[in-house]
Amino acid sequence: MIELGKNGGKLAKTKAFHPWPYATEREKELINEVIEEGLWWRMSGSKVNTFERKFARMQDAKYCLGVTNGTHALELALATLDIQEGDEVIVPAFTFISTLTAVIYCNAVPVVIDVDPETFCMMPSAFEKAITPKTKAVIPVHMAGQCCDMDAICDIARRHNIRVIEDASHAHGAEWNGRRAGSFGDLATFSFQNGKLVTCGEGGAVLTNNKELYDKAYLIHGVGRPVADKTYAHVVLGSNYRMNEFQAAILIAQLERLEAFNEKREISAAILDKLLCNIDGITPQGRDPRANLDAHYMYMFYYDAKAFSGLSRQDFVEYLNKEGIPAFIAYPVVSDTQFYKQRNFRGYAFQNIEPQEHDLSNAHKIADNVVWLPHYTLLGDQVDLQEIAEAIYKIQSYCNR
Ligand SMILES: *Cc1c(COP(=O)(O)O)cnc(C)c1O
Repeated sequence: MIELGKNGGKLAKTKAFHPWPYATEREKELINEVIEEGLWWRMSGSKVNTFERKFARMQDAKYCLGVTNGTHALELALATLDIQEGDEVIVPAFTFISTLTAVIYCNAVPVVIDVDPETFCMMPSAFEKAITPKTKAVIPVHMAGQCCDMDAICDIARRHNIRVIEDASHAHGAEWNGRRAGSFGDLATFSFQNGKLVTCGEGGAVLTNNKELYDKAYLIHGVGRPVADKTYAHVVLGSNYRMNEFQAAILIAQLERLEAFNEKREISAAILDKLLCNIDGITPQGRDPRANLDAHYMYMFYYDAKAFSGLSRQDFVEYLNKEGIPAFIAYPVVSDTQFYKQRNFRGYAFQNIEPQEHDLSNAHKIADNVVWLPHYTLLGDQVDLQEIAEAIYKIQSYCNR
């Protein structure tokens, strides 16, 4: 008789996964520097500047601007491109909600399109089909750490004079055809929220290769004031999106580990793919070979309840948790969320506009069936990976007993 979870039998997971968030003496050393120097904001300190220089270089971009968080990074990127009322911005149906809400917050119209059923990334064909004379920008999301088809997306955007903002919140260090996420679009955004691959609890960044866009983003992110302004010269309409020195101190230390962690996750994900693709009812996220470095922010797979005697996906996730494996259900389709369906847009321009309907069947299939494991499950050893597979086998035998 198989028993699941903590009551009774031995757990499938016998030891802890790699801790996350993760810090060493290096983070403490840099934080102490900020405290001892007494320079807590970027206007006086040097940590934000240092972080920006290092992160831009790491992502093959010329300029980086540290900001408060990834949601604000998207809002700032759209404001920098002057996206405003009357403009349409194309976003994928399968992403974290901020990709959509940032568009609503700048008074523009989000146009939600489908994603690829294997890679879960924006489908270039759906992008091209959704273009209208009002389309001003597109926001491809490098889903779970795998880059979108940036060749096709940038080519379509160029032909139609549409601006590209990469939402690279999952893609620290990720590469497409040997080039890093964040270097393809007019602008790119990153998040350093608690669970992300590089984290300071909350944080974000905007990257670009365009000096003019960088200068404009800098002004908007600092309430419209030029660098080192001491005269309250508010030259553009801005807000306060500034990153502080404590955030940057932690991030500098985190960046020193990113390359090694990405290498480790690539190796682990390949092993886990092999282990899980043998299990009936489990199909890992597919991979475009041109996405030559996948950062693996989330390890995602389709779950087919039929192979588990109809066990619901939510129960499957709970059983995994009981066995000591952290697991979650996928994001909902952005336009299936409560506020969107109730058309509760608080008076932003989208309130008065009938949303465009596009086929979102792949995104629905993913949102309804996919399960994901957090990236730190890939930072341990082979035993960790075997135990993930064993937990799934154990649940399957239990359900089909
Ligand atoms: C995390 C995330 C964001 C938002 O970042 P925050 O730092 O949490 O505001 C935006 N887009 C995607 C795809 C994300 O995963």
